[in-house]
Amino acid sequence: MPNLSERIDPVFEDQGAQNPLAVLKRVYGYPAFRGKQQAVVQRVVSGRDAVVLFPTGAGKSLCYQIPALCRDGIGIVVSPLIALMRDQVEALKQLGVRAAALNSSLSQDEFAAVRNALSSGSLDLLYVTPERIVTPAFKDMIGRTKIALIAIDEAHCVSQWGHDFRPEYRALGSLKDDYPGVPRMALTATADPHTRDDIIERLNLQSAEVFTTSFDRKNIAYEIVERQQARQQLLQFLSRHKGQSGIVYCLSRAKVEDTAEWLNGQGIRALAYHAGMDRAVRDANQDAFLKEEELCLVATVAFGMGIDKPNVRYVAHLDLPGSVEAYYQETGRAGRDGLPSEAWMAYGMTDVVSRTRMIEEGDASPEIKRVERAKLNALLGICETAGCRRQAILAHFGEAHPGHCGNCDTCLKPVETWNGTEAAIIALAAIYRTGERFGAGHVIDVITGNDNEKTQRFGHADMPVFGAGKDIPAKTWQSVFRQLLAMGLVRVDHDAFGALKLEPEARAVFKRERDIHFRKDRPAAGKKTKSSSASASKAKSALAEADQALFEELRARRMEIAKENGVPPYVVFPDTTLVAMATERPTSQDALLGISGVGQAKMERYGDDFLAVISAHED
Ligand code: ADP
Ligand code: ZN
Repeated sequence: MPNLSERIDPVFEDQGAQNPLAVLKRVYGYPAFRGKQQAVVQRVVSGRDAVVLFPTGAGKSLCYQIPALCRDGIGIVVSPLIALMRDQVEALKQLGVRAAALNSSLSQDEFAAVRNALSSGSLDLLYVTPERIVTPAFKDMIGRTKIALIAIDEAHCVSQWGHDFRPEYRALGSLKDDYPGVPRMALTATADPHTRDDIIERLNLQSAEVFTTSFDRKNIAYEIVERQQARQQLLQFLSRHKGQSGIVYCLSRAKVEDTAEWLNGQGIRALAYHAGMDRAVRDANQDAFLKEEELCLVATVAFGMGIDKPNVRYVAHLDLPGSVEAYYQETGRAGRDGLPSEAWMAYGMTDVVSRTRMIEEGDASPEIKRVERAKLNALLGICETAGCRRQAILAHFGEAHPGHCGNCDTCLKPVETWNGTEAAIIALAAIYRTGERFGAGHVIDVITGNDNEKTQRFGHADMPVFGAGKDIPAKTWQSVFRQLLAMGLVRVDHDAFGALKLEPEARAVFKRERDIHFRKDRPAAGKKTKSSSASASKAKSALAEADQALFEELRARRMEIAKENGVPPYVVFPDTTLVAMATERPTSQDALLGISGVGQAKMERYGDDFLAVISAHED
């Protein structure tokens, strides 16, 4: 860790009123604002409040950093996680911005140094925790220091509806009166109407303009497969991502550890992360994930919030996530840098049973449980859709998408459907005739006429429905039952030990008032499907083959520099910048400054290193 005088090193000299676009170019090296960034920046620079609801990777940080640099005084950023603060401060310092974080991990000396920097006006941005900003001690410390703005990051933490609720956020509403006249911003990647309303109300942002953009993450390819041999399927998926980093999510801590161990045995470097681990090990694994280029982090959902590593190339789910919201947030950690990335999930009927159990055994109120069940069904609908996944996902968030995105498994390899009305009637009848007391496994035994101890014991082998569906393989019946669940025709009854029960909607099917179409399952695992090779080639298409070699050399140099400086490689330059260097091959400092992501400070620090790699390659 560098010492503090280095950490708040005043490289960024020019103060006072600044032109936002000039700051964007000089400090960040970016040629233009993206989407609604400019509108947000303008509003805050002019001293007014803003609520910013952009998806991950859209570039929310610039929305408060640039106004903080343009306005007089210091920008205060409220951030819930110390690790996140540390990364942001580090990245800002690499850009030559004078940033510091105030949190409980500071020593007394470090604390004093921040205090001095504050009183001498030599800070541009200060990150603080929500607990601290509302204390009288903090207000005292700020004293007469001019404040440019207050930005509340991960603002969805204020809402009980999200999964990241933090009670400390509730007190932040008082900032309006504590710091009158200071523009305030709330930023988050969670945009459901409930959370948005909570943010506005709880944080007293009624006068703020709300900025939203599409939540479509075009660079993320979605794929959802039926789980057969999960590990082999995972291995095959990971073989598309050699040399890259990603996250594999599992439901349980034990599965996290087993999977990580197994992957290492398969020659894939993997580390585990879950809340039950020793803190030091967990932090070290997280740090390795940030700093290494080729690492698979196997984790529970405890991992991820605030991870702003931009080049996470894949997110895999070995178990069904908790909801569409959770799925979108977890998969959204891939591809912040905008380069092609993959979200892959393997799931099966057992997931539905265990999710249902988790909901029913939880201590939530009946109302919340009802919401949870609805959320699970919405996710199942996306898993079982024969249409475009992206369209289905965005529809869940109230956003219309025309479909045919061309970057999800169902679009890349359209799913065939079959008229399953007769099959549905057999399946529903089998559930009904066996008394709605059994799980899918046994009901399928009955349908396919599997004469075993259990079908004998319950007298099911003598029923007319026994063997009524023996022309269809058991595997297809599993798919049928999952789809019946997703269609809301049956449900899993936890109180009856996971038995399938009919829903009232099933009546119309019995009475032949409703035709049922099922999606055909994909070919068995092990065979390389068209969809996987299609998305794999897409993931590589960012670079022509000739430039790939130079990119690798630039990447190696970046890793050396990152190690020397003790920072993650992407803090030196993001992949997108290396890709631009590898294709445009600048040979002078001026030309290098023309590359997106090369600002003044980084040019001075690292420019010659990278120019040397390029010229050596050209020779
Ligand atoms: P978010 O917080 O919304 O998830 P970030 O602020 O981390 O997104 O930005 C994602 C990536 O996009 C970062 O690498 C950032 O430097 C880059 N970025 C942001 N704005 C721009 C821009 N106008 N031009 C180019 N790159 C940008
Ligand atoms: Zn699609």
